Formats: sequence, structure tokens, C-alpha cells
Amino acid sequence: MTGIKIAIDGPASSGKSTVAKIIAKDLNYTYLDTGAMYRSATYLALQNDVALTDEGAIVELLQKYPISFGRREDGQQLVFVGDVDVSLPIRENEVTNNVSTVSALPLVRETLVALQRQIADQGGIVMDGRDIGTVVLPDAELKIFLIASVDERAERRYKENLEKGIETDLAKLKREIAARDYKDSHRKVSPLKAAADAITFDTTGVTIDGVVNFIEEKAKKMIDRH
Ligand code: C5P
Repeated sequence: MTGIKIAIDGPASSGKSTVAKIIAKDLNYTYLDTGAMYRSATYLALQNDVALTDEGAIVELLQKYPISFGRREDGQQLVFVGDVDVSLPIRENEVTNNVSTVSALPLVRETLVALQRQIADQGGIVMDGRDIGTVVLPDAELKIFLIASVDERAERRYKENLEKGIETDLAKLKREIAARDYKDSHRKVSPLKAAADAITFDTTGVTIDGVVNFIEEKAKKMIDRH
């Protein structure tokens, strides 16, 4: 096995996936968006009229329609459940506003964490989420915890949504982001928090390049030592 493990955690829209994707590409590592996996589980429950708290039924759906990742010709990552491409529907508001309920279910987490570790075992990886440094990859060589003000995060998500053609109300978005952070930070199992050995970085007012350079500098030192 070659390469190190890089864990990037943080609250909603803190820039994790944007920077994680760039870093993985620069280092020629695998990128894994664990949020997309919880979103896919939520999508499956909603599509199949399964209660969002019925963890047994949701795990069954995950077995019947396994999550996998693919790539579009332009390099864009795609997410599948079974053979259905759910890359766009998992970003819709209905999924976003219900995902914290599903991600709090212990059996769903157990199932998805097992898959996340299996993917990480294959080599150099950049994984982003909420519990990567604390639970999924506690032995990751580099752990980053990204934070940013709610205002800035809401503006970023607002712009992203506009680009994807998803209609959004900014004030409502702020409330929804704050509510999701609260639920993710206060759940019993694997709550959102920085690992004791994580480096916390506030990205408010920092460019994407600024965040990428900060993390890559640390990663390169770790890779040299590895
Ligand atoms: O990162 P993203 O905003 O797409 O994550 C969607 C949701 O998935 C989070 O709000 C959280 O409830 C859940 N999640 C999680 N653990 C992770 C990644 C995401 O609980 N490692």
C-alpha cells in the first residue's frame, strides 16, 4: 500500500469537498465524499417510502442498491445506488434537509463506515466528512478540521445551488445549515467534532487555493516522512 490517509472534517459547506477533490487530484489519490453516501441512504429511504428512522429497512435498501462511484468524461465524480445515477438528486433540498436524521442511525453508520474503510485500504486517500478523523480513520496521518462562519458557508452553498439550477432562499439556507450543524454535532453516535490531533483551519475569507496550499504543504511533509 502506498500513500497516506488525509481526513478532512467540518460542518456543512465549510469547503471540504471542494478542497479535498483538488488535493486528491494533485496527489493522484482517491477522493471519497462520505457525505454523498449518507445522502444516498437518505435518497433511497425517501424514494422507497421507508421511514427515515427505520434503520433496518434502510440498511436493507443499501444492500439491495449498493453505493458506488464513477467518473464522467470531464472528470466529475458520479454517485450511483445500484445502477441509478443519483449525483444530482442527492443534492436536492429534500435530501439535504433529511440527511441528518438518517446519518444519526447507528446501523446505517456501521454499514457505511465499513465501506469507507474498505475504500481507504486501497491506498492514498483524501476522505471528507464529519467523523473521518475521530472514527473512520483514527490513524490518518493528516487530519484537518475546516470551519467557517455560517454566513460565509450559506453564501457558498447558495452560489453552488444557483450553478446547479437548484432554487434557494439565502435566509432559509442559513437556518437550514445551522440546524444541520446542530443535529450533526449533537447526535449520540460519531458527532461532528475535531479529533484531538486534528489541525483546525478557519476558511472564512480564505480562497480555495489558500486552503489547498495550507493542506498540501502539511501533506507533503507527511508523505516525505512516510
Ligand atoms: O458533507 P455533506 O454536507 O454532503 O454531508 C451530508 C450529511 O451527511 C451531513 O449533514 C451529516 O449528517 C452526514 N454525514 C455524516 N458523517 C460523515 C459525512 C456526512 O454524518 N462522515
